[in-house]
Amino acid sequence: MSNLIEPGSTIGIIGGGQLGRMMAFSAKERGYKIAVLDPTKNCPTAQVADHHIEAAYNDAEALNKLAEISDVLTYEFENVDASTIKKVIDQVRVPQGTNLLLITQNRLKEKEFLKKSGIPVAAYAKIKTVEELNDSIQELGYPAVLKTVQGGYDGKGQYVLKTKADISEAALLLENGICILEKWVEFEKEVSIMVTRNERGHISTFPVSENIHQNNILLKSIIPARVSEKVQEETKKIAEKIAEKIQLVGVLGIELFITKDEDIYANELAPRPHNSGHYSIEACSDSQFDMHIRAICGYSLPKVELLKSAVMVNILGEHLEKSLELNESKPSWHVHDYGKADVKIGRKMGHITILTDNIDKTLKEVNETKIW
Ligand code: AMP
Repeated sequence: MSNLIEPGSTIGIIGGGQLGRMMAFSAKERGYKIAVLDPTKNCPTAQVADHHIEAAYNDAEALNKLAEISDVLTYEFENVDASTIKKVIDQVRVPQGTNLLLITQNRLKEKEFLKKSGIPVAAYAKIKTVEELNDSIQELGYPAVLKTVQGGYDGKGQYVLKTKADISEAALLLENGICILEKWVEFEKEVSIMVTRNERGHISTFPVSENIHQNNILLKSIIPARVSEKVQEETKKIAEKIAEKIQLVGVLGIELFITKDEDIYANELAPRPHNSGHYSIEACSDSQFDMHIRAICGYSLPKVELLKSAVMVNILGEHLEKSLELNESKPSWHVHDYGKADVKIGRKMGHITILTDNIDKTLKEVNETKIW
């Protein structure tokens, strides 16, 4: 029992966005204190934290300070420098370790890990030069997508090649470093699943979410995903296998493609709670944030139950004003506002979770608001 990080302890979070904020809400409910490292004054997590260290995520001195005042460290996004974290590992518990970060912040390592673990992924090739791009595209065929190995998110750092004419423009991505070329998967649905594991090896999965993107940004999630029982079961098994193989501690989000023939391909891993899991706050017996806090503090993990079907809609900058009016006109909709000061088009400002007995009817209601 001595391995437990008990209520009253301080959880240090690297990154002060909405994920950190929702982790903090969950931790506070359980009696923990929160310290956050983020360069932005009054960032979403700082608004609900006990301590805010205002500095860059990779500032070694600041991280040291965070480690000093924390009993356990976690991160809310994957672009944290693993080597900086390694420097404080003797000083404070970092249950997620750095291996998970190293794998998930590099698309090539991620795909190699998945392939080696026996998880189906789209055919891919490592690309360093235009010649390699020319050779590999002949092997993989069109369409294919070229992605930078590091630093891309929400579709940034990607180029879809439809014909030979796209090669020269796609090749510009190589100026940013090594890329990965992936065969295009003709998917019917994009889904995701959150999985939690603790140090004792307990694993607990969430229901499968069906995700709808617009301009490569998540717009809506539908839970449970409208896929067969077989696909749901298979996706859960994939999630459990990944959690085991990667020796996960905490929550991991897994994005996958489902084809018409019900083939499943893993696309991307997020070593933290994920946007498509926000529905779990209201719709599940434990949210992804509850489970993350339980796991990193060493507690046993419950089986997560879906209490009700749900539709989650993201509030981006352009939706904010109208969405906040829904607090009045749709009293049963759960409107979350992340408290961000700068409203920008495409920036995630909040989300709405709608619990429902009828997904089609709810999607229609969402459309009728004409906000999205
Ligand atoms: P990612 O950054 O890898 O999540 O990619 C962003 C979006 O591009 C995904 O949500 C998919 O809609 C699409 N995409 C990425 N890779 C592929 C692929 N190999 N086949 C089909 N669609 C893809």
